[in-house]
Amino acid sequence: MRITCIGGGPAGLYFAVLARLADPANRVTVLERNPPGVTYGWGVVFWDDLLDDLFRYDPVSARRIWEAAYQWDEYEVRAAGKPVTHLGGYGFSLGRHRLLDILAERARELGVEIHYEDEPTSVDALPPADLIVACDGAGSRIRDAASGHFGTQIETGSNRYLWLGTPHVFRTFTFGFERTDAGWIWFHAYPFTSTSSTFIVECTSATWEALNPSVGDLERIFARHLDGQPLDDGGRGWLNFRRVTNERWDAGNVVLMGDAAHTTHFAIGSGTKLAMQDAMALASSLSVSDGLPAALERYEHQRKAAMAPLQRAAYASSAWFERMPDYASLPAKQFSYALSNRRGDYPAWRYLLHMSTQGAVPRTMLRWTLSARRWNRARRRPLVLI
Ligand SMILES: Cc1cc2nc3c(=O)[nH]c(=O)nc-3n(C[C@H](O)[C@H](O)[C@H](O)COP(=O)(O)OP(=O)(O)OC[C@H]3O[C@@H](n4cnc5c(N)ncnc54)[C@H](O)[C@@H]3O)c2cc1C
Repeated sequence: MRITCIGGGPAGLYFAVLARLADPANRVTVLERNPPGVTYGWGVVFWDDLLDDLFRYDPVSARRIWEAAYQWDEYEVRAAGKPVTHLGGYGFSLGRHRLLDILAERARELGVEIHYEDEPTSVDALPPADLIVACDGAGSRIRDAASGHFGTQIETGSNRYLWLGTPHVFRTFTFGFERTDAGWIWFHAYPFTSTSSTFIVECTSATWEALNPSVGDLERIFARHLDGQPLDDGGRGWLNFRRVTNERWDAGNVVLMGDAAHTTHFAIGSGTKLAMQDAMALASSLSVSDGLPAALERYEHQRKAAMAPLQRAAYASSAWFERMPDYASLPAKQFSYALSNRRGDYPAWRYLLHMSTQGAVPRTMLRWTLSARRWNRARRRPLVLI
């Protein structure tokens, strides 16, 4: 099969890897508009569920991703005027650059051709292919050229956000909320290497319009959290999150994947996972030999069903941040509980657990329990030499 992936993000590169693993006779090309090593954004977070899936589909790249990932083992909530509180949980983070390097290297090892600085704007301009995967991100031009056919809908969130990086290494995943004369402004930060952290700043549009903060202003507002270290916006400006959905994902031999098909608000940090799970689902669906139309339909059907609960969670989570000022007067522990239960689906025992694990000793015991769970889960993954 001749396969062309338009876009060398996590979706396109990982699908290229899986397509070659599925059948080394597949001729797979990835077209990426940026030069090698150039991408947007900073570190992204993920959890054990993605690692389990990655190890199942390609243990070699999974092992490299796991080894390059930074582990953090609780959430810290710092809200101005309140004592610091903590939320149980652990996860992993990895720079987008590093993730794409790992995937591109693995793809090349398997014989995928990656053409950088190649930016087709229409599928008609491409050499003939049996399957064209449009994985060109949230602003997909391939999708937009046929948005009527795909039934594309784009909803714009009301909050403003800016994706920054900093050399300040946060101890763990940290939410910080500061009050300004124009209203609340907050960050979601986490380390992704031993020398850098992601720092996403968010506020309501009313606060943003009143402050219109530059990077220097943000360094001042969040000075007590940054330990004198600078912020870097990577040359990108403030945005509103765009929630993309599509009624159908295929048009002939063209299929949407990753952010081109659906975006997921960063408040639940899952867009990369969903993009890579799309790649897994499409590769699996193509392995059933009942023809391309059936494979594409099965892929879309499976992914829409699998993603629905997470998309609802992302929606609830982003809505919580849009209403954040309403929660600001809660006492510290109730505030951090409301933040952790922002999807609104926690059973009552989670509240009791949260309230009883704020002290140093129960917190440490909770961390040990969770790291035993992490170790146990990791032990079940296949051993691979790389
Ligand atoms: C602030 C923020 C924080 C986030 N944090 C997380 C997180 O912690 N965890 C997580 O899982 N997800 C996170 N995400 C989401 C994640 O970044 C995306 O969901 C993920 O990158 C989607 O992968 P993709 O391959 O579909 O698209 P992309 O990563 O956007 O890749 C698309 C690629 O296509 C290329 N391209 C575009 N047009 C063309 C063209 N015409 N021709 C050739 N190439 C083209 C682009 O250059 C790009 O390399 C975050 C997103 C944001 C905005």
